[in-house]
Amino acid sequence: MSVVKQLYQLQEVELEIESNEQALAQIASQLGESQAVVRARTKLKLEQQHLEELRRQQHAAEWEIEDLVSKLTTAEGKLYSGRIKDPKELTNLQHEVDGLRIRRDQLEDKALAIMDRVELSTASVDTLSNELKTLEAEWHSQQQQLSTNMEQLKTTLSDLKHKRQLLSVKIDPQAIELYQELKKQRRQAVAKVEQGICRGCRISLPTTELQRARGDSLVQCSSCGRILFLA
Ligand SMILES: [Zn+2]
Repeated sequence: MSVVKQLYQLQEVELEIESNEQALAQIASQLGESQAVVRARTKLKLEQQHLEELRRQQHAAEWEIEDLVSKLTTAEGKLYSGRIKDPKELTNLQHEVDGLRIRRDQLEDKALAIMDRVELSTASVDTLSNELKTLEAEWHSQQQQLSTNMEQLKTTLSDLKHKRQLLSVKIDPQAIELYQELKKQRRQAVAKVEQGICRGCRISLPTTELQRARGDSLVQCSSCGRILFLA
């Protein structure tokens, strides 16, 4: 095999290594905590806190009603007992009972409104919790898929690197040196020649250059400097 063909094969393997390494980096960036899951978790936590606060308000209102009802029962008992004869005292007591009734009705309305909000918030917590579960399940299976792909890529990469090693030891060290030097400048050191054109720089090659490239020797494109490879 000509040295040019060997270099070309080496380049093919190295390009493949490069693209596999890029794919690996891409996967690595997708591994880890999902932003969507983090957001859903935060949303759920806030709604749970909101529900807790509503329940606290609900209990406070209920206790207040209980307290008020007991005061009202006492006041009503006194009012209707027939024991109080003084008209002024009776009027005052009637006013107290009226006031307590109004306050009780207001509080009952308030408690009902809070109950409605508790119901809404409970439904919200359920929905958010289901959404989070779905997202976590999706994320989990995605992570597993990514890990599997990663393992496959690592195996492929290790095979390719082994192949590169096997190829490079067979190539003349001076040719490798030139190849590495060109690679630094042009990324691809070897250019295919198709229909007399260097595929590296797309320039038509002089006939003499083409003839020299057909031989066994290593010929560089006079325009871009790449090693010419005639397939
Ligand atoms: Zn060229």
